[in-house]
Amino acid sequence: MKIQNYVYGEWVDGKGDGAPLIDPVTGEELARASSDGVDLARALDHARSKGGPALRAMSYGERGALLGKINEVLATNRDKYADIALKNSGNTKIDAAIDIDGGTGTLFFYSRLAGKLGDAKYLADPGFERMAKDETFQGMHIWVPLHGAGIHINAFNFPSWGLWEKAAVSLLAGVPVFAKPATATCLLSYEMVRDVIEAGVVPDGALNLICGGARDLMDHLTGADAIAFTGSADTANMLRGNKNLIASSARFNAEADSLNMSLLGPDAKPGAAEFDLFVKEVSREMTVKAGQKCTAIRRAFVPTGILDDVIGALEARLAKTVTGDPRNETVRMGPLVNKAQQKVALDGIKQLSAEATVVTGGAEGFKPVDADPKMSAFVAPTLLKCTDPRAAKAVHDIEVFGPACTVMPYDGTGDAIALASRGGGSLAASVFTGDDGFANDISLGIAADHGRVLVVDEKVGDLQTGHGIVMPMCTHGGPGRAGGGEELGGTRGLRFYHQRTAIQARLDRLQTLADNAAQVTL
Ligand code: NAP
Repeated sequence: MKIQNYVYGEWVDGKGDGAPLIDPVTGEELARASSDGVDLARALDHARSKGGPALRAMSYGERGALLGKINEVLATNRDKYADIALKNSGNTKIDAAIDIDGGTGTLFFYSRLAGKLGDAKYLADPGFERMAKDETFQGMHIWVPLHGAGIHINAFNFPSWGLWEKAAVSLLAGVPVFAKPATATCLLSYEMVRDVIEAGVVPDGALNLICGGARDLMDHLTGADAIAFTGSADTANMLRGNKNLIASSARFNAEADSLNMSLLGPDAKPGAAEFDLFVKEVSREMTVKAGQKCTAIRRAFVPTGILDDVIGALEARLAKTVTGDPRNETVRMGPLVNKAQQKVALDGIKQLSAEATVVTGGAEGFKPVDADPKMSAFVAPTLLKCTDPRAAKAVHDIEVFGPACTVMPYDGTGDAIALASRGGGSLAASVFTGDDGFANDISLGIAADHGRVLVVDEKVGDLQTGHGIVMPMCTHGGPGRAGGGEELGGTRGLRFYHQRTAIQARLDRLQTLADNAAQVTL
């Protein structure tokens, strides 16, 4: 089967054989994807000229209802999607739920949030700006939807969540979606978009999909477009250098990789609730989606005196993680997404082991349950120990995009903050401590290097949403190496798809504009 592209209002075959989409457990080919021959300039123009005006004719409330309808279509077909997630991504049931329900949950959240914005078709900052002695002439700031396309380039690990977390915000803003999922796992994105298009719930041009390479996509964007990229720092940097992107000043948001860290407070000795919560979270982050989460914990910092206690507890927990074919009910961790990713991850583990000791797992000789190591793409849950993190480099630099984490000691708050910063900017950090003073000092100390900091103690142990889980009401993104971008965050996410314009005029005219706007601080 060759899957198609949805462009210029129709399903279009790509030319040639296309790239194979593989089952990472069996090595079986599931489908092929190709965008070759698709006229990307025409496809983008269709999104801008048809989808944009149709969406902008609707109010935020109406577009919120549209998101609700998309969500209903996807809910009807959920079982089919879980089966595809198992086949094309090697997902366990929990992995598939994070991707699929994470996507639909975000659509639901934004459909509800639209209620706050009501019948308005543009937004305004609350209040006016006085500019002269006489109050009759003043200024205000309005936000209007961009007239271009939301070009959404996604990573392979979230073919559902990545698609819908961007589409939800873009569609609510009134900007048509031009989605380009990663080729390796685009089968799920394809089926979902196909179902939504067949259901007839989106206006012509509002939802477009490329399955296969992006080819010369970047050469056709204009200054009215907004590009939201998720993927590796290398690809982000390559795209940032695109001449047309630079010349057009189109917006470019990058969510890239990062060396996320989790830290155990000095108070959390073995036996403390926070100690157990930390061990549980680190091992969960290593094994959920086989560690293929951009937010997963790669570096775990613990007080020097209890380094071996933590490692022992983690080792015991990881030993219970049955790894193999997710079709087997006992399996808790599946494979990486393909052989290429397996190779990169195993190479990364080898590089880390030059300055860290492998405690469990490693790059060699792993035998998964119910799967042939030659055909499948498994990596063992791999825990490493680095006793001199100040001198080490690779542990702060190499993102093994798989089930690997390095545990390291720290001595005091200043040392912990300095070590955290060695990641060069990350998406997420977590701190496990019952000490309020330490919690505040660390949160403030590491905030400049992180997009999100989760602070856990016993009281929120069962309530917290998880180190690696992205919640749509809070911003997602991180500084520096993590790409310097920002997504979601409730209404904050709308900012990327709107132009802020200062209007200077007679006060009563401004008042009319303000009365018809949804007042919001972005
Ligand atoms: P990748 O190789 O950088 O690819 C990301 C996307 O860029 C894919 O859709 C890819 O398409 C596309 N792409 C490649 N060359 C392009 C070009 N010239 N023009 C336009 N698009 C182009 O990343 P990946 O291997 O899919 O994902 C793994 C990485 O993503 C990890 O490093 C992870 O940390 C990061 N990630 C970050 C987040 C986050 O939210 N910050 C979330 C998930 C993953 P093809 O697939 O067709 O090559």
